[in-house]
Amino acid sequence: MERRDFVASVAGTIGAGSLRRPRPGPTGALGAPLLDAHAHVMSPLVAARISGRRTVEPLSATELIRRMDAAGIRSAAVHSTAYMMATDAFQRDVTAEQERRELETENDFASRECAPFAERLVPFLSVNPKRDHAIAEIDRGVDRLGMRGLKLHLWNSLVDTRDAEQLDRLRRVCEHAANRGLPVLIHAFVGAVKEYGPDDTERLVRQVIEPLPKLRVCLAHAAGAGGFGPATQRCLERLAALCPAGTPLGDRIWIDMAAVLFGSAAEHLKVRFSELVGQWGVGRTLWGSDSFETALADTQKVWPLGDEAWTTVCRNDGARWLTG
Ligand SMILES: [Zn+2]
Repeated sequence: MERRDFVASVAGTIGAGSLRRPRPGPTGALGAPLLDAHAHVMSPLVAARISGRRTVEPLSATELIRRMDAAGIRSAAVHSTAYMMATDAFQRDVTAEQERRELETENDFASRECAPFAERLVPFLSVNPKRDHAIAEIDRGVDRLGMRGLKLHLWNSLVDTRDAEQLDRLRRVCEHAANRGLPVLIHAFVGAVKEYGPDDTERLVRQVIEPLPKLRVCLAHAAGAGGFGPATQRCLERLAALCPAGTPLGDRIWIDMAAVLFGSAAEHLKVRFSELVGQWGVGRTLWGSDSFETALADTQKVWPLGDEAWTTVCRNDGARWLTG
């Protein structure tokens, strides 16, 4: 993965409002998805914080809706980037109280942005599951802000499930989400964990998802971190083997393809993507843009599974994930 992709992936967004590319043309013959399962809004505070040599622009819900309309997408799960304010992947020189205040401010922002578009935008709050206040913030987001899902970015929060205490904290946060009926989107791949791989995917499934039968999970980036390289391939292979479609476990796990088919993946990897997603099931594969403006057009150009499979992805409105 290129450095830019790495930073974007850890930050949790790839090009959300940041890359001023030409607008995508009208949706091609492949059609548009009903749901974008992996979208973001971005506050001016977050945009300023992650701007480096390259300026990152804020992204409002109004702009997100404009892009959805241009692409023909009906609804979106919109993930707060509040977890960036409680990150463990980057050094932040703030007190615990300030960090918590900023986390709350960002969840407030995502909720406020989505509110005027409640028919189309489903707001997901986010937390760092390692923080003591994670569960209280989930309750605040749901009860006071009306948020309807939970986003966890395990790389940004540096959650190493090989560590028993971190695994336990993650499990407790997921259990709380399950008890509250919240769908969860998990960026599971933690590139900062040495040789992160399929055993880590399996631990998440066996020790977090499987023991919580009410939990509904979408694994972002097809269980990877953007792009489709050998590491993502191995994680997705294990996931597909562990949770076949049509089983009680498999039927409450989805993947999204946010930023997976961008750029120029090698031909043999695209072939492997086709085989694996075919095996996993396109019916359990959700469209995700990561709020990258040209994501849909770019993906349609290289989509390797044919029209019928694309239509299946497009028709999935995510209702079983979002509302059970
Ligand atoms: Zn994202």
